[in-house]
Amino acid sequence: METGDTDVLVIGAGASGLAAAGDLAAAGLRVRVVEARGRVGGRVHTLYESSSPVPVELGAEFIHGEPRETWELVERANLLVCELPGRRWQKRGGRLTTTDEFWSKIEKVFERLKREGGRDRAFEEFLSERREDAETREAARLYVEGFHAAHSERIGTRGLLKAEEASERTNGDKLFRVLSGYRSVVEHLREEVLRRGGEIMLGTAVEELRWRPGGVELTARGAGGEAGTHAAPRVVVTLPLGLLKDEKAVRFVPELPDKRAAAAGIEVGHVERVTLRFRERFWEKLELPGDEGVRSLAEMSFLFSPEVAVPTWWTALPVRAPLVVGWAGGTAADRLSGGDSLVESALQSFAEVLGVARGEVASQFVEAYTHDWRSDPFARGAYSYPPVGGVEAQEALARPVEGTLFFAGEATNTDGHNGTVHGAIATGRRAAREVLESLRA
Ligand SMILES: Cc1cc2nc3c(=O)[nH]c(=O)nc-3n(C[C@H](O)[C@H](O)[C@H](O)COP(=O)(O)OP(=O)(O)OC[C@H]3O[C@@H](n4cnc5c(N)ncnc54)[C@H](O)[C@@H]3O)c2cc1C
Repeated sequence: METGDTDVLVIGAGASGLAAAGDLAAAGLRVRVVEARGRVGGRVHTLYESSSPVPVELGAEFIHGEPRETWELVERANLLVCELPGRRWQKRGGRLTTTDEFWSKIEKVFERLKREGGRDRAFEEFLSERREDAETREAARLYVEGFHAAHSERIGTRGLLKAEEASERTNGDKLFRVLSGYRSVVEHLREEVLRRGGEIMLGTAVEELRWRPGGVELTARGAGGEAGTHAAPRVVVTLPLGLLKDEKAVRFVPELPDKRAAAAGIEVGHVERVTLRFRERFWEKLELPGDEGVRSLAEMSFLFSPEVAVPTWWTALPVRAPLVVGWAGGTAADRLSGGDSLVESALQSFAEVLGVARGEVASQFVEAYTHDWRSDPFARGAYSYPPVGGVEAQEALARPVEGTLFFAGEATNTDGHNGTVHGAIATGRRAAREVLESLRA
């Protein structure tokens, strides 16, 4: 097997692959990134529409807290970031309450989880161990399923606890948005790779990875259908979990049964996310009855309603724009993907949340933006979460093989930051360090 004139191949130009490639190129290695899509960024996918005053995110939107990985980039690239205002509400039984009550219920559940710890078990099993009231369980479920894109009867308590602790370390309860769109972050990573002499081949889908210790050969197909090969002594694999689970998606020769077993031990989470653009910010003129009197929706940033099909909503605040995002994760996402059209369900849910007729919302509606990550052949889902035993599976998935195959990507994050952009970047940087250490060995 020829190893060509490249030192390291990187499969995938998402946040993790670009971070790995940038670090490797900075260390003086000849790096080639092979990416199936015609763009970089993977699950970071921003649309710039002339008809929309703000960029529209189809994938990642928020910086969760103050993780070093993202903030370093934001500062190096001089990007403008704003913090989301704290006005968050819950709508239940036709009434609005601030989410303080909602969060304090969730916090109580997590405090108990921290206190009791115990064996790794499904979150739903943990919930059933105490007689928490139905509302508390519902709030905890909505949070866990929405945020982690998980099923509460599958996500493991150990992984959840790890994610909570990781979030506390990085002030994860604060949310930020990159005003020029998340794409600016990955564009910066892309520029760093190129500036340091790395190469990025877009529209090149890897079909097979042949390897032996010290040698890798990729067979990839270009957008025009032509096959080509790429060889190097080492490869960083950042394929999303959904592809690693399927032996037919990218063939490993010889096969890697331990990696397949590890991938099988982690779950792919699903999300339905839809941005609705309206003629104007009509909801700002509405008022709803709340526990502390009538409330105007002019300052609404987040609104949770466990009672509707699309249960989580947010606006563009602090920017005033006529767009809202509807979000459903886990079980709610599954229900939506099998039912009526997502946009129809979203319009219906938004009307119910606002307490107005569907016709009123429909008359304001201009356009919807969404992306089907579940059936996207190069994503096969939104992001990963660890079920019972999943923490060990994440560690096994991340482990290098024979100083030749290295693994990055959000699902290989073992610090509790899986499912995020900063978590993905951290794995790329970790894989780059592992490659450099293998060269010194
Ligand atoms: C709807 C949604 C909302 C999200 N919201 C947030 C958020 O607000 N904040 C946050 O931090 N995170 C969020 N995330 C998660 C975040 O987007 C991901 O964790 C992160 O972008 C994953 O990066 P990655 O490099 O691991 O994977 P990817 O970005 O998926 O990169 C993998 C790359 O591999 C490529 N590839 C796949 N198959 C092949 C092949 N055969 N050959 C060559 N290349 C291939 C893919 O095209 C892709 O570019 C969200 C994700 C989704 C889907």
